[in-house]
Order: sequence, then C-alpha cells, then structure tokens
Amino acid sequence: MIDFSYLVRETNLVGGEWISADEGRTIDVLNPATGEVVAKVPDCGAAETRRAIEAAHAAFPTYSALSVAERARLMRKLHELIVEHTDALAAILTTEQGKPFAEAKAEVGSSAAYVLWFAEEIRRAGGSVIPSPWEGRKLMTTRHPVGVVAAITPWNFPSSMLARKLGPALAAGCTAVVKPASATPLSGLVWGVLAEMAGFPKGVVNIVTGSARQIGGELTSNPMVRKITFTGSTEIGRQLLRDSAATVKKVSMELGGNAPFIVFDDADLDRAVEGALIAKFRNAGQTCICSNRIYVQSGIYDRFVERFSERVAALRVAPGMEEGAEQGPLVDAAAVEKVEELIGDAMKKGAQLATGGRRHARGGLFFEPTVLRNASPDMRVTSEEIFGPVAPVYRFDTDDEVIAAANDTIYGLAAYAYTTSLPRAFRLQDRLEYGLFGINEVLIVTPEAPFGGMKQSGLGREGSWQGLDDFLETKYTCVGGLS
Ligand code: ADP
Repeated sequence: MIDFSYLVRETNLVGGEWISADEGRTIDVLNPATGEVVAKVPDCGAAETRRAIEAAHAAFPTYSALSVAERARLMRKLHELIVEHTDALAAILTTEQGKPFAEAKAEVGSSAAYVLWFAEEIRRAGGSVIPSPWEGRKLMTTRHPVGVVAAITPWNFPSSMLARKLGPALAAGCTAVVKPASATPLSGLVWGVLAEMAGFPKGVVNIVTGSARQIGGELTSNPMVRKITFTGSTEIGRQLLRDSAATVKKVSMELGGNAPFIVFDDADLDRAVEGALIAKFRNAGQTCICSNRIYVQSGIYDRFVERFSERVAALRVAPGMEEGAEQGPLVDAAAVEKVEELIGDAMKKGAQLATGGRRHARGGLFFEPTVLRNASPDMRVTSEEIFGPVAPVYRFDTDDEVIAAANDTIYGLAAYAYTTSLPRAFRLQDRLEYGLFGINEVLIVTPEAPFGGMKQSGLGREGSWQGLDDFLETKYTCVGGLS
C-alpha cells in the first residue's frame, strides 16, 4: 500500500485558506474499481467561486511583478515536488480515476515534464524590437500575463490536463482559479498542496470543486477572469464559448476527438497491431486522442483483425492498483451503459464481435476489451466519441476513399496511419484535417510539441511555445521624440 493520505484534501483552496462549502454540502469521491467512497469534497457554487476569483485578482499584481527568474525557480520547485511524490500522486489518481497504476505514474511524470518545460520556456518568452519605419522613434513589443485564468479540467487525465494549464499560467505570471472534474477532484486539489509546498504566494492558485453549472457560470461571467482554458466535451466547450462572449474572454479549448487509425497493406503489421492496442486501450479507451475508428486496407484486413483481437483478448482487466493491470474499470455506470449501447447499435447494423462485447466477469464498472469486425459508416461508433474499450474495424480499398472517410467528422484532434511508403505518408500529412498526426507511432504527445485540435476539436494549442503564448498578451510600444 502506498500512503497518500498526507496529500489528500477534503477542502477547497481560496485565497490561501482551505475552506468547506458555504452550506457545508459535499460530493462523494468514489473508487471506480470498488465503488467505495474514498473522500468527500466541498460542493461549492457561485459564491465561493466569486471569492476565489477575487483572491486570484488580488494576488495578481504582486505575483505578476515577480521576476521571471523567481517564477521559474518556483516552477522548478513544483516540478521537483511532483517528481518526489510521484508514487503517492499516482496512487491518488488510480484510486479516484481507475487507470492502471503504471499509466497513472506516466501521467504524473508528464505533469512534471510540462511544469519543467514552462519553467524553461518563460525565460525565453521575450518581446521584440521592430525596425522603425520612422526617424526618431523606437518600436518594440513586450509580453504580459493575461491576468486571472480559469481552468476547467476533465476526469480522464485529472493531473496532466491541469499541468498544461497551470504550468503556462503560473510561468507567465497569471493567477488561477481551477475547477477539477467532480469525479476526480483529489488529483486537482493536490495541486494546491504542492503549490503551497513550493512556496507560491497565497491566492495565486485557487481550487474549487462542486456544481459545474454554478462554478462554470461564475467563471465565464465574471469580468475579472480574463481567460478560460478548458478540456472536456465539445458540447460543454460550445457552452463555455457562448458564455464567455459577453465579457470577451480569451479562450483555449481542448474538446472531443474521433481519431482515425489507418493501416495500409504496406504497413509493418506487428507495429500497427501494437500501435492500435495502445492507441485504443490506454485509459480503457477514455482519452480524446484514442483511436475511435480503425480503417484497415482489404489486403491485410483479416490478418490484422485476427492478430489484433488475440492481443486485445489477452489484456489483463483488473483494478488499477493490482500488479500487471492493463485495463481498469470505466469511470462510472453511465460510461458502461454507453459502451453497451454503442456495441448493440453496431451489431444491429451488421458488425460482428471479434472479441469481448460484454460487461466483464469482475462485475462493477469493468468491461471486456472489445473488437468489432465489419464496422460501417452508419453505426454510431463512426460519428460519436466512444470513450470506452471498443475498437470498430472498417475495411477500405483506396487512399482517396480512406482519407475522405477519415475527414468525414466534425472533429479534428488526432489521427494515426501505418504505412512504409514515404510519399503516401506525406500525402496523408497534407490531406488529413487533424491537429496531431502519428505516422507509424502512437505515443506522440510531449511538452515540446503542440497539442490541439482542428475543426470542432478546439481552439489554441497546449504544450510547445504556443502553449505559453496563449497566456501572454503582446503590448506594442512606440517611443517618439528621439531624433
Ligand atoms: P467529460 O465527459 O470529460 O466529463 P465534460 O465536458 O462534461 O466532459 O466535463 C469536463 C469538465 O467540464 C468537468 O470538470 C465538468 O465538471 C466541467 N463542466 C461540465 N459542465 C460544465 C458547465 N456547464 N460549466 C463549466 N464546466 C462544466
């Protein structure tokens, strides 16, 4: 057993104080592997959120005035703390979210890497001197933090999604109000503990849990909040965009995906099977860059389905803290029901089960890793984000056909293709409408590279220099009378 109780907070962080909800209400945090209540967190609403925003606003002038060197030092300290407490942080994550402990550790490692990246990147985020078109005048740009940032994060990556938002915000000199998902609040609240340990001033990081509607409503309508950064569904993203319009906030949106995974006849089959396994079943299929639709060219279709299904059937389904677990439980009962519905719909329309298809014998929220053969465009799995351990496999013949099918969606987050033809790979790069593209590779996300979607998958990019840019304003200054 890993002791993580010292990092668990059942209160919210507002202006440096750990508080309960005004009316004392709480939300149960469940372990999806067992159904047990592992903690209770405050069920806050608009009033507590307003105070959190005011605290962030009050802390902004002092925090943003710290030197870049001092902010980078605080960030490096935060990075060190995440590394030092990785096991406990990962155990919290698995306990409330369900993913295998090894995946949780990888996620926490990624959180640490993002924080370090932004600590380094802010030191290079200077402005510019512009060659002047006028005599006697100097033109320059300087960079400034946008102000109070509101960060709303989902339950599937409750640690690293916050790292991509708090990392650049804190590096840039912004202060923040964070709302973690209600299913996984502990991995959000622990950022408050770590920020305190690192020495960030009071009010720089504020965290509220509770009613998404009320907290979201206050965050989007309050004029003191200058930026909303959100990861979650496209549906909620649209609503936050609408709600942010009245006060013209800056917005970054990481929304849903419907990733195509394309395997050509000329692919390295073993590599493609391995890639499909990881891209589909990581976090039990509950990621926005999970391959949603697997397209396989006719010449290797049967061999691919056979080998892939063998590997999928051998995945070890177990509670995330159990040694060797490869797929944990789904997040809640609604997720299990949705997966069942999607499989039922596909089978009615002609799909066949190559493996899986049912609730797992372990019971609870466990579901069998599933492969569907003969998937077709009219099935719900083609247009909807599956967000579960179900892999529909489609057959195709030509490049044009599969590119058209791959792009036939409102989403444009991640795409993957397996081919040994270089010209084909670059044709795909030109024509696939996706913000992330893995060729013969699925583990492509890293702090150095931009993460974000085209079309209705989002606005802006996280990670890379762009991920910091979104938290900085550019100010142009013209100095005259110099001749
Ligand atoms: P998911 O399927 O990942 O839960 P959601 O978009 O529903 O996707 O939720 C992502 C995050 O957005 C969670 O923190 C959730 O609580 C929050 N959220 C949901 N509805 C709203 C809303 N109306 N306003 C603000 N945040 C919301």
